[in-house]
Amino acid sequence: MRQKTRLPGSTIALRQIWVAGALCIPVGFLTVSAILFWLWRKYDDGHSWWGLVDWIIHSLELGVIGGLGLAAIVMSVLNRIHFRLGYHRCIYCGRALKGIDKPCSCLKIAELLRANASEASKKVA
Ligand SMILES: [Zn+2]
Repeated sequence: MRQKTRLPGSTIALRQIWVAGALCIPVGFLTVSAILFWLWRKYDDGHSWWGLVDWIIHSLELGVIGGLGLAAIVMSVLNRIHFRLGYHRCIYCGRALKGIDKPCSCLKIAELLRANASEASKKVA
């Protein structure tokens, strides 16, 4: 019998974000393409072959933008949810982190930030 492994929360969160992004790109692409096809069918009177070629080119451009935009929105919202649920934790004290740009308030992290700031000031001087 296979033993069930307990993955860290950050690994689970990262996998969920990648799966959500991978699903949202084709969904966004197909949605934008379907809307553009509907608009082309509704407002293009002639339905010429050149109109279809023009529609396909514009559909590819806007479909990619739509897919990437939907993926960015969903991944960003999912990332905020993961931080709120405590999936990402400090590697030193184990406290739940508040955000990607908000470091933990424990002593070890403060010490690292202080050492990094002093190193940066030495390189400038
Ligand atoms: Zn900490």
